[in-house]
Amino acid sequence: MTKRDQLLAVCSLAPRLSDRTCAWCAAELPQRRRTWCSDRCGDLFWANHWWSVARSAAKRRDRYRCRRCGTRGPKRPARVAHRTRTAYLAAMRAWRAAKKTGRLEVNHIDPAAGRHGQLSCVHHLDNLETLCMSCHKVHTSALRHSTGV
Ligand SMILES: [Zn+2]
Ligand SMILES: [Zn+2]
Ligand SMILES: [Zn+2]
Repeated sequence: MTKRDQLLAVCSLAPRLSDRTCAWCAAELPQRRRTWCSDRCGDLFWANHWWSVARSAAKRRDRYRCRRCGTRGPKRPARVAHRTRTAYLAAMRAWRAAKKTGRLEVNHIDPAAGRHGQLSCVHHLDNLETLCMSCHKVHTSALRHSTGV
């Protein structure tokens, strides 16, 4: 049994009814498909269980804005928007600097507690929220305060 199958057996989002139904949406499996009825169902599984995929899915869902204050992250400059390479490189530098203080981060509502590198149900999209760095900081210190760590 793979790690993925172990997870599917306990995942609250995955109603596995039988070997002939999709492990994500429970539709009947087309011939030659063994776990998912479509690539989309497989993608949705990863977007809810693997951190790097879930993180970008959460930002996309939140339209690249902080859920608490609405701040947008700094936007990567497009090469075509700049007439010269020098202007473009300057914009890239400004973007990198802005990201140090203003980038968007994704927070686990129910804390991940070191499970970032693992296949886990803690990465379900409904447990993730996009926050700007300052809202994230406020959240983390409030958490520390309430748990007394
Ligand atoms: Zn499916
Ligand atoms: Zn914010
Ligand atoms: Zn799950």
